[in-house]
Amino acid sequence: MRVNRRGMAMVAALVSVLACSPADGPLPADEAPAAADRRAGAPGIGDPDFPKDGNGGYDVAHYDLVVDYVPTTKRLTGVTTIKATATQDLSRFNLDLSGLDVREVSVDGSPARFGRQGDELTVRPAKAIADRAGFTVRVAYSGTPKPAKDSANLGTYGFVPTSDGAFVASEPNGSKTWFPNNDHPSDKATYDFTITVPTGLTALANGELVGAPATKGGTTTFRWRERHPMASYLATATLGKFDLRHGATASGIPNLAATDPRFKSSLDKLYTTSAEVTDYWSTIFGPYPFSSTGGVVDNYSAGYALENQTKPLYGGFDPDDTIIAHELAHQWFGNSLTIRRWKDLWLNEGFATYAEWLWSEHKGRKTAEATFAELLKRPATDPMWTYPPGRAKPDDLFNQSVYTRGGMTLHALRGAIGDATFFTLLKTWAADHRYGHVTTDEFIDLAQRLSGKDLTALFDAWLFQPRRPT
Ligand SMILES: [Zn+2]
Repeated sequence: MRVNRRGMAMVAALVSVLACSPADGPLPADEAPAAADRRAGAPGIGDPDFPKDGNGGYDVAHYDLVVDYVPTTKRLTGVTTIKATATQDLSRFNLDLSGLDVREVSVDGSPARFGRQGDELTVRPAKAIADRAGFTVRVAYSGTPKPAKDSANLGTYGFVPTSDGAFVASEPNGSKTWFPNNDHPSDKATYDFTITVPTGLTALANGELVGAPATKGGTTTFRWRERHPMASYLATATLGKFDLRHGATASGIPNLAATDPRFKSSLDKLYTTSAEVTDYWSTIFGPYPFSSTGGVVDNYSAGYALENQTKPLYGGFDPDDTIIAHELAHQWFGNSLTIRRWKDLWLNEGFATYAEWLWSEHKGRKTAEATFAELLKRPATDPMWTYPPGRAKPDDLFNQSVYTRGGMTLHALRGAIGDATFFTLLKTWAADHRYGHVTTDEFIDLAQRLSGKDLTALFDAWLFQPRRPT
């Protein structure tokens, strides 16, 4: 994720316009409180900073999403089929879903009872699920999606209706605004998308198209498949009027650029820059982790960009090469390597910010060293020094320190261990945890192992102390 500074005034304006008012019914009267049933899956996955995000008791392997959306009525009709494995005996379990009306839930083909409370959808299968058993849950639902609103973090996010469709960017927990899921990055899964829109519009989801779009009776259906594990916040179904350019990068990675007609003049630059950056990062961070690359510029003035897997999304502005370099660096750091807890967000944003500085260096502009030296001159009272980036705060997750001081941490590390070890470290880190999960401790351990140095003091000063490192 990265804020586009010129867009910030727009964010403030939009936050006050878009209201969010999910109307959720209470649990059925016969539902005992979860605490009374040891076989009930927990309503949160265990991230203390976001206690209600995700759910306990199962692990999702695959989402099959069928979504119909009509921009003129803003009505979404969906069926989500989830393949999961129980991690405990389950008499009931939760999914995350914000607003929208649930019509029917089944587990392994049998109708299941369900209840709603806030953003929790509780499912009680007809028969309890045994620990380690695989199961399939299918949820049929519909309604008018309401984007999430959180002025302390991203502003407006999730499924955001636009004049011609929808802008879908869900970090940190907005995917529940458009489909029921286990909405936390610690449970990644593969995805199939079947999205139907009025003919003339294009639906853009993650991964690659499966067959040609099919038009029938005034609607067109797009099928996309993301066959690599993906965090829920990176799932997208951005749709509307788009101009497309597709092909491949110089190294042969399929590349798709899409721009809203308002940004048609950006299409070629988006396409060529995304290709160039993807290929360059492949030489610095190791092989590209996914099966395609590209980018999408929509007409919604979000004022930020999000690194949606294989299709970074730029909200209402013409992205320059620096922000494209940032979002595509996330395909390695954030998307392939995913944080287990939000407090470790610097592993995404510090790395993507440092990637911006490496890109600038690569282009013969300012060096990373010059950027670092300039930032280090900020006075001791600068808010960046009082916010330790190694511990992102839930009410201020996207603080600039997580980005800038996170990036400075990597530059300080580079200085301490030398270029050869530093760039080996970046590649080894990306290779060792490809498609998996990561923590800050694991990064520190690897840096120490590869360099043979005790880096405790360096990481402590840069990541965890509320003052400027000396
Ligand atoms: Zn970012």
